Amino acid sequence: MSRKHITQTTQADVVIKSKRRCALCVGLNDDLSEKPGQIAHLNGDNSDSRFENLVWLCLEHHDKFDSKTSQTKNYTSLEIRSYRDKLYQQYSNSNYTVDDVRQVREYLTKYAPVFEYVFHEYEELAFKIYDNMFEELTAIRDFWHTNTLRSFNPAVREIQDRIANSVVGICALYEIDKYDGVGNWIRFAGDRFPQQILVEKRREARMYVDEIANYWKQLQQIAEGNG
Ligand SMILES: [Zn+2]
Repeated sequence: MSRKHITQTTQADVVIKSKRRCALCVGLNDDLSEKPGQIAHLNGDNSDSRFENLVWLCLEHHDKFDSKTSQTKNYTSLEIRSYRDKLYQQYSNSNYTVDDVRQVREYLTKYAPVFEYVFHEYEELAFKIYDNMFEELTAIRDFWHTNTLRSFNPAVREIQDRIANSVVGICALYEIDKYDGVGNWIRFAGDRFPQQILVEKRREARMYVDEIANYWKQLQQIAEGNG
């Protein structure tokens, strides 16, 4: 069975939605503490890396679930799935205050232009960017931790911090070498970068943009009251 890579975005979804709480620890023992663990494939097919097929399990439960030699009746995927869904629901119902939601809306309004640009231009991001957009990104990179829109709610703040981390990654794509200003654009000097490096940068940019898009969607859900 070939193991298919779980995308960063999907991995983040699993750890964020479960908050690293093991579905079996919670479901069987009401143990809501954070657990070191692993992502397990519910249907046993390691190539099936859809979010729906994945669950966070502590190391002990992961081993038991995986074990094929157990004499006792093993945990079934159906039962784990049911605990997992309850766990996700429990956390998704956690209340955001009116202030939390208002602040998330402000954040979305303020950063919509730069991130919509990023989502739209991701193909180009690895080698050119409007300099005013680049300034917005470096402002997030350099001053995010003192930003007044950084939430006091830990769940919101974690999502926002992950966006800021991906922004750091995007900015770093430009800074491994000097860039030239060409009119309104900041652009890598193409002749300094062999094709292979540009392809690699583009792939990396795409990864960061996908991550931001995923977190952005989660913030939109909070802003709409469905977080
Ligand atoms: Zn467990």
